[in-house]
Amino acid sequence: MKKRRLNKSVLVIFALSLVILLGLVLFNTNFSFIGKKSIHEDARTYKTRHCLAFYPKGENGLKTAKQICKGVKDDRIFDYTLIPYGDYYQISYGGDYRYFTDKQYNLLKISEVSDDGKKMISDYIRYTYKKERPEQYYNAEFLKQLKVENIDFSNVTYSIEQEFLKCHVPQHEMDVYVPLKYIQKEINMNFGFPFELYVKPTYIDTNPEHPIIALTFDDGPQFSYEKGSTSTERIVNTLYDYDACGTFYVIGDKLQDRDVWSDYQVYFFLKDSINQGNEYASHTQTHTYSLTELSLKDDIYEEINGPIDYMKEFMEYDIKTYRPVSGEFNSSVVEASPVPAILWDIDSEDWYTRDVEEICAQILNQKLDSGDVLIFHDIYDETASAIEKIVPELVNRGYQLVSVSELLKAQNIDIENLKYYYTPNDYE
Ligand SMILES: [Zn+2]
Repeated sequence: MKKRRLNKSVLVIFALSLVILLGLVLFNTNFSFIGKKSIHEDARTYKTRHCLAFYPKGENGLKTAKQICKGVKDDRIFDYTLIPYGDYYQISYGGDYRYFTDKQYNLLKISEVSDDGKKMISDYIRYTYKKERPEQYYNAEFLKQLKVENIDFSNVTYSIEQEFLKCHVPQHEMDVYVPLKYIQKEINMNFGFPFELYVKPTYIDTNPEHPIIALTFDDGPQFSYEKGSTSTERIVNTLYDYDACGTFYVIGDKLQDRDVWSDYQVYFFLKDSINQGNEYASHTQTHTYSLTELSLKDDIYEEINGPIDYMKEFMEYDIKTYRPVSGEFNSSVVEASPVPAILWDIDSEDWYTRDVEEICAQILNQKLDSGDVLIFHDIYDETASAIEKIVPELVNRGYQLVSVSELLKAQNIDIENLKYYYTPNDYE
């Protein structure tokens, strides 16, 4: 009886020893990195069976440490680096995990991007598609899906790489890089970059299957209706929908007309339009005279320069080109004008037909070549309706629809030394 009891105890002790021994073996394997220290003196530690992560004090650090240890199966140690950015830290674990804190390690809510910031990110998504995935880009319906309203920002993550906010967009399996100089304000951070007016990024595709054409709109802006319903606004909205841009040759007197729209409304309309890549240029101050009828050099200059001065004062915006009324100009006009004249080679004849189908047919039934300049008038509702059909169709055909400045840049034409431009084969 006594013997059997003893035997039982021995067995129990033996079994227990075995468990402890096995446990020690496992323990040693899994925590072989115990004893390793962080390079930071006040670092906290988070451990799992296979992972040891250091983090700066504060529950947000713990959250990140937990996240990086999740799913780690091979034994690993993660130490962090602190990179100071002005009043902030970037805490980084290798290249994959980065987050931002203030100097007390409180996590910054970088996910609370303003509406303008979100728009910037969606602009860069379309830019990245055009640059890296052109086979998907030239599709009007697809481009519409990349508008800011259609982007899911809930699981977009952010980090900083040099001067860029790097946004990871899981919905499109894409990383986009938005310059901090533009987006710092929209994420409530200040990295010390001076203010710079945001303009949508443009990428010019040099593939000959994607001809570059400029869309131009004369005689506006149409501010003489209730805000939200003018032909000018409809055209600007359509261009945005399909990541297209144009140049608006505005008449000074109309630009300054405040009968219906307020200064505030005009300012923000122009700012948004410029932000989305549209260009503003001069179509003279009064549109009354053919410039060739004016005999005095000063009068010609004044007519062309009116909108240039106004845009400079009102928007801090530099106008680069002008369009002569009815396309009439001569050598004395060239001599008197402060900027080059931009003519056109494809006329939509919208001013003449005032018919949606005819405007569409006029543009879509002819061959358009790289370097062509198309002329429309943004003062007609029929033109706005036609543009809603023409722009997606041209995108689907593979055209790049750009402003005049972008068109000239793509052809390496120096605006400073240009006198006039009709076509890629006719300019001086
Ligand atoms: Zn005109």
